[in-house]
Amino acid sequence: MRLLEWEAKDIFRSYGIPVPEGRVITDPKKAEEICSALEGDVVLKAQVDVGGRGKEGGVLFADPLSVADTAETLFHRTIKGVPVERVLIEERLEILHEYYLSITIDRSSREILLLFSSEGGVDIETLASERPDEIRRIAIPPILSEVPAFAIRELARGAPREIGSIVSRLYRLFREKDAVLAEINPLVLTPRGLCAADAKLIVDDNALQRQGISVNRSLTRREQEAERHGFSYVELEGDIGVIGNGAGLTMATLDLIAQAGGRAANFLDVGGGAERERVMHAVRLVAGMPSVRVILVNLLGGITRCDEVAHGILDANVPQKIFVRLAGTNEEEGRRILAEKGYRMFDTMEQAVYAAVGVR
Ligand code: GDP
Ligand code: MN
Repeated sequence: MRLLEWEAKDIFRSYGIPVPEGRVITDPKKAEEICSALEGDVVLKAQVDVGGRGKEGGVLFADPLSVADTAETLFHRTIKGVPVERVLIEERLEILHEYYLSITIDRSSREILLLFSSEGGVDIETLASERPDEIRRIAIPPILSEVPAFAIRELARGAPREIGSIVSRLYRLFREKDAVLAEINPLVLTPRGLCAADAKLIVDDNALQRQGISVNRSLTRREQEAERHGFSYVELEGDIGVIGNGAGLTMATLDLIAQAGGRAANFLDVGGGAERERVMHAVRLVAGMPSVRVILVNLLGGITRCDEVAHGILDANVPQKIFVRLAGTNEEEGRRILAEKGYRMFDTMEQAVYAAVGVR
């Protein structure tokens, strides 16, 4: 699970990694008070669970006179479809240089991988793809509880010496917090020394209980709704909404979409016995994702009756085009109901998937 920036920074701070002074607020009216306690200009950062906020308008600067308005603006934004419910207000750092530092797991060699670049900041992904040599990598066997000094020197050649203690502390944090990623981008050089201007921490989902992290805490509104209905639901990055029954069939649908060159917006398994109302809620839930362009319903009737499914789809009454593949119990009736309303029906899931992917 990915922690929010302010949560990650609290942990970084507890490990002695320098982070900016700041406070998180849920009400824009608190902005002025926090700002006056910080003295000087501030940076306001949307606490949303997506990367690249800077480029999406999720990081704003303000002075004490404009901070109230800036906070209002930020709280009214959505960043990559995620509404801003929390904002971190921090002292604005004077940045002399931006570095990149991260620790992750190299799954093929089963080692801990340290990455460093002297060109950190918002364009790190471009750098990684266009000039990968600018990112130095060092693998550490996980049996080592400390990063050897020579490895740090090698990794962060050219950076200020104090980076050594930051690398050591981040490594210790990474191991003790069961992290799969600990990243500082940018790690900035200021007149007062190095400071983690941003913080990203992903904790292994299998370790959440041990780490005392509650799983439901960071569910999105839609994920909470899915949980209420008993759907297995995961949001993905694509634009094709997916509804299936049974984890296997739904996974197979996602695989086929990828194979056909499309990108699924989600995984949603409605479960067994999908009656009319459940289907309606599932369709509305998926249609409510701003990224969803078309919806693919792939249901096998068993306990589930296809005519119930058909009515559920009609009841949902959503704007997106819906591609339907229904097979099994009461198949004929289900298809008839939908065909009457102008839906195109498909005999196989391959046909339905290709049709959905083909819509542009
Ligand atoms: P991200 O886009 O979600 O990774 O958000 P970041 O927290 O990394 O902020 C994006 C960019 O905003 C950084 O790379 C910095 O260039 C800039 N930035 C963030 N905090 C400060 C700050 O305190 N002072 C200055 N001058 N720039 C900042
Ligand atoms: Mn960043």
